[in-house]
Amino acid sequence: MARLIVRGGRVIDPAAGFDAPADVWIEDGKIVGVGADLDAAGAGEFDARGCIVAPGFIDMHVHLREPGFEHAETIETGARAAAAGGFTSICPMPNTAPVNDNATVTRYIVEQAERMARVNVFPIGAITKGSQGEELASIGSMRNAGAVAISDDGRPVMNARLMRRAMETAASLGLPVIDHCEDLHLSAGGDMHEGIESVRLGLRGIPSASEDVMVARDILLAELTGARFHVAHISARRSVEMVKFAKSRGLAVTCEATPHHFALTDAGMIPYDSNFKMKPPLRTAGDTEALVEGLASGTVDAIATDHAPHAGSEKMQEFEQCPFGILGLETAVGLALETLVHSGRIGLARMVELFTSGPARVLGLDRGTLRPGSAADVTIFDTERRWTYDVNRSFSKSRNSPFHGHRFRGGPVASIVNGQIAWALD
Ligand SMILES: [Zn+2]
Repeated sequence: MARLIVRGGRVIDPAAGFDAPADVWIEDGKIVGVGADLDAAGAGEFDARGCIVAPGFIDMHVHLREPGFEHAETIETGARAAAAGGFTSICPMPNTAPVNDNATVTRYIVEQAERMARVNVFPIGAITKGSQGEELASIGSMRNAGAVAISDDGRPVMNARLMRRAMETAASLGLPVIDHCEDLHLSAGGDMHEGIESVRLGLRGIPSASEDVMVARDILLAELTGARFHVAHISARRSVEMVKFAKSRGLAVTCEATPHHFALTDAGMIPYDSNFKMKPPLRTAGDTEALVEGLASGTVDAIATDHAPHAGSEKMQEFEQCPFGILGLETAVGLALETLVHSGRIGLARMVELFTSGPARVLGLDRGTLRPGSAADVTIFDTERRWTYDVNRSFSKSRNSPFHGHRFRGGPVASIVNGQIAWALD
């Protein structure tokens, strides 16, 4: 296998406490060393001058739509979009058809990813059979087939007794439980955040309480069972406060925030544009403020995209009819730089942490650092590069993004996966 030196960048590896100009030496898919003026005879070189060189970014929440919805995305196209977005590892949620609720589907995803994906794919298995919320899925066998967590994402587990059993099972297997926290009775019929804006637009609302009550319930169940509990796409101020409280009590509770939830608000959405429809919905400026505070302080552990491709025909319907979810992989780094770093709210090292060792820790993945011996996953990005996002040139099969035409300052330059360049800016 080839040797590669990533030359002349500013290397930021929060897990190792490293932030300095350095070269990264890669051999046989592993990091050999990080240091000044490395000289490895016969090695290829990647010129990273002027760039940040970081451990490979991990997106712990994506939807790849395969098997079952390949018209919207496949493992191959989703992985291409990931690489172009600076991600070297992605974790697909189980809401495929069939649902990833048993080892056969898990193995299919793992094998298809080995054949087709340019990035690492770590699947997330379902909590319940068919994600129907009635009977536990085959959690142990999915873990043995490669699942790194369980979740019924897209849906919550409404039955608290079943969630308790899921947490007990997951705890005994060492897996985290990721919940899409939404009380379906409270959110029923809603299309956007319930508040002044939903009244103004005449759309049915989804109250923050629909998220908050489930976060509260799950924190209590995590305390009862000792399970590792992770809140997917946290969006509401009270939920962030409760995660902070749970952490202060020493519970193994973590959460992730998406770029659209910290960058956009309900007041800023283009009315009735389906590219602004997602679950949880865009909330208020007070909520985004709480997310940014949480990202800065450590209450929020990871930035995850919830990349949710939908074919054009599905998203072209009226606002009330169209499905929830937007693309996220190719705009995440640009949005994080713009909203968090260039605004002065968090430092670059903290941003890198939220994309690397943060999610790695939540999932117990042996990734997210450039320490010698680690898998050679490297993300190279430029904090100043000016570029415009053209969704029609996306590597994704779908086009549902509210950021089409957005002008970014800073973005990914290259993604190296297991020592191979998976994508580089041309
Ligand atoms: Zn979800």
